[in-house]
Amino acid sequence: MYQSHRGDVAPKEQRVLCIAAHPDDEVLGVGGTLARHAAEGAEVLVLIMSEGEAAKAPHSRRNAARRDNAAAAARVLGVHRLVMGELADQAFDAHPFIELIHPIEALLREFRPHIVYTHHGGDANTDHQLVFKATYAACRPLSTLSASVEQLLCYEVPSSTEQAPALPHYAFLPNVYVDVSAVWATKLAALRCYAAELGTWPHTRSIEYIDALAVKRGGEAGLRRAEAFTLIRARVGPSPPAAPDAPPGSADPTLRS
Ligand SMILES: [Zn+2]
Repeated sequence: MYQSHRGDVAPKEQRVLCIAAHPDDEVLGVGGTLARHAAEGAEVLVLIMSEGEAAKAPHSRRNAARRDNAAAAARVLGVHRLVMGELADQAFDAHPFIELIHPIEALLREFRPHIVYTHHGGDANTDHQLVFKATYAACRPLSTLSASVEQLLCYEVPSSTEQAPALPHYAFLPNVYVDVSAVWATKLAALRCYAAELGTWPHTRSIEYIDALAVKRGGEAGLRRAEAFTLIRARVGPSPPAAPDAPPGSADPTLRS
C-alpha cells in the first residue's frame, strides 16, 4: 500500500502477503488495507500461523468454526488465498523457532511478495512477538529469499498492541497511515465473520473501540479513518537476483548468525 519511490510495481501487479498469528488478527490489524489492495487488483495472500484454539482443544468444533470464519473473512476482503498453519495457539514458544520461520520462507519462495505485513514485535501477546521475529528473520536483508520484498510493515492489533507494558521497547510507533474510509464497511463485515471473538465495549476488541481507533489513526494523518503501520524497511532500487531453489530454513547460512 505504501508506494515506493520507484513505483516499478503497479498496484494491480503487486503481490501482498499478510502474516498473522491467529484467526482474526489479519482483519483487526490490516483488514481494510487488504481490502484496498484486493480492490486495486493486487494478489493478496494471508498466512495464519495457528488455527486458534488448537493447543487447548485439538480437533474441536470451535477450531473448524474458526477456519470457516477465516475463510469467510478472506472472501469478504477479497483475499485470493488463505493458508492456515498448524502452530499451537498461545504456545508458539513451545515450538523450535525454525518451525515458525519455515512456513514464512516457503511462501516467500513460492509467492515472492512485494509487500509483507506482520505483527508488531512489542504486542502483549507472545505469539505475536514471535511472529514478528520469525517474519523479520525470514525477510532479513541478507536473505535471497526476501529479494522480492520491497516493504515490510507491522500492524497493530486492538486488544494486544495497546495492552503491552508502557515501556519504550514495546511502543507501537506508526509512520504509515492507510486511508480505509472507503472500505470501512468491508472491514466491519469481515470482523463480523469473527463475531464470537469480538468483545463488548469497553473491551478493546469491540466494534466501538476498533472504530474509535480507526478514527484516531485517521486523525493523526488527516484522514477520516485509517489503519496505521510501522514501516520496518522499504527498499528502493533494482531487485536483487531471485532466490535459488533451495530447501527452506537452515539452508541459508545467514540464519545462524
Ligand atoms: Zn492474535
